[in-house]
Amino acid sequence: MANQPEPVRDAKPKYTQLFINNEWVNSSSGKTFEDKDPATFEKIADVQEGDAADVDKAVKAAKEAFKLGSPWRRMDASQRGRIINKIADLIEQNTQLLASLECRDVGKPFVHAVGDVQKAVNVMRYSAGWADKISGKTIPVDGEFFTYTRLEPVGVCAAIVPWNNPIALLTWKVGPALAAGCTLVVKPAEQTPLTTLHFAQLCKEAGLPAGVFNVIPGYGPTAGSALAKHMDVDKISFTGSTEVGRLIMKASAESNLKKVTLELGGKSPNIVFADADLDEAVEVSHLGLFFNMGQSCSAASRTYVQEEIYDQFVAKSTERAKKKTVGDPFDPKNESGPQVDGMQYKKILELIESGKKEGAKLMTGGAKIEGKGYFIQPTVFADVTDNMRIAREEIFGPVQQIIKFKTIEEAIERANDTSYGLASAVHTKDINKALTLANSLRAGTVWVNTYHAIRPQAPFGGYKESGTGREHGEEGILEYCEIKTVTIKVPHKNS
Ligand code: NAD
Repeated sequence: MANQPEPVRDAKPKYTQLFINNEWVNSSSGKTFEDKDPATFEKIADVQEGDAADVDKAVKAAKEAFKLGSPWRRMDASQRGRIINKIADLIEQNTQLLASLECRDVGKPFVHAVGDVQKAVNVMRYSAGWADKISGKTIPVDGEFFTYTRLEPVGVCAAIVPWNNPIALLTWKVGPALAAGCTLVVKPAEQTPLTTLHFAQLCKEAGLPAGVFNVIPGYGPTAGSALAKHMDVDKISFTGSTEVGRLIMKASAESNLKKVTLELGGKSPNIVFADADLDEAVEVSHLGLFFNMGQSCSAASRTYVQEEIYDQFVAKSTERAKKKTVGDPFDPKNESGPQVDGMQYKKILELIESGKKEGAKLMTGGAKIEGKGYFIQPTVFADVTDNMRIAREEIFGPVQQIIKFKTIEEAIERANDTSYGLASAVHTKDINKALTLANSLRAGTVWVNTYHAIRPQAPFGGYKESGTGREHGEEGILEYCEIKTVTIKVPHKNS
């Protein structure tokens, strides 16, 4: 990249408090939590720990900012768009700092962190364009009536964000919510609060009125759960595990039936036919799984390869994984960094052991990397069968499963045999095979001869237990709108 910024290895966060009503404040309890660098185990910062009492304050501020007649409600939609664009500009201007903080907090390679910051900019700009284009319809209803619809902001929104792509996934929720005219309370993941906090300051600088955007750093079972069951939150958007997704939906059902958008886990099939460009398919499948240390909800975690090319594919994929450079995420020679925390690290190593025990063939890797940091060797398993835990459970780590198949019918059936349905991919030169798969896979996304091509303009989300609702695209904007029908009696109707 031409204007790639230099990484700042010891980047220090400027903001570590709660952000409520455009002010930086301490938590009600006075508690803080340690935010650690997963590559070195060093403490980056003590961050104020919000809980239910703070959530209450933030929701009050967001509710006040959403009141009829408030500066935010009275603002022209085009002006909302200008502010969102301004936030995008400020994010872009702060790329060096934001990417350095993300690199330290998540452990992702600096160059990928820069990419994530650019993705955040793109999502904000896309959302900004929608602000004054969200419109209803006039509808020719039966009878002597004039009927139109208004798309109104849904109200106070909660956003719970995970740690794998903090700033990018934050904007997936904030961009459309602001475009629609909602107000927000965000809870970043406890592992990675820093870029979300810096983003809050940029929102203030861009001119968002007080109370429109609030951040409560803290833990899931306290701050997150308080948001999910809050009676004054009108909508919650959550990205994370399916397990917590269920809790969010339950909390909504047991409180005020707030609207729920869930973007959850996956076990995405990546199907390689014998007629595919082999080297290309090996590389795309490798990145589909190993990108971000395997920590992607849409990771290509079940690679089905047709039997004619299976052995070659396994050999080439193994070579590729062996070449992968893992280490300090600030060092540009490294393609991969550490896993985000000790819990994920242990879970991944345990699943690797299960693969060995259940009879999968370990081609490379299969262990931690000794020394400081949560580093795991890039791991490839061959001869994986559908019922092994590594073929069924979300690993969220650098572990590739390569599975053999014979026919297209069998590939479809086995690919769909999962409780998840987030993403999928097909590699082939045959358009008929590609279209048959695109029509048959039960997943929110089908990629053909590519992977991880997620763009703000096109909807993204899950079938089955991978979630409900969509983010990105027009559909993502509509998730933050209520539709109101207005019907007026008229004396004479004419067509
Ligand atoms: P998680 O679902 O526990 O955490 C995601 C977010 O939810 C965090 O902000 C967390 O604080 C919050 N949270 C946790 N418990 C909560 C509760 N009871 N109420 C409200 N909010 C709560 O995910 P994790 O434990 O960090 O990771 C576990 C697994 O989740 C991973 O191994 C992976 O399989 C999956 N995951 C998926 C994504 C994704 O992008 N879909 C992202 C992160 C993790």
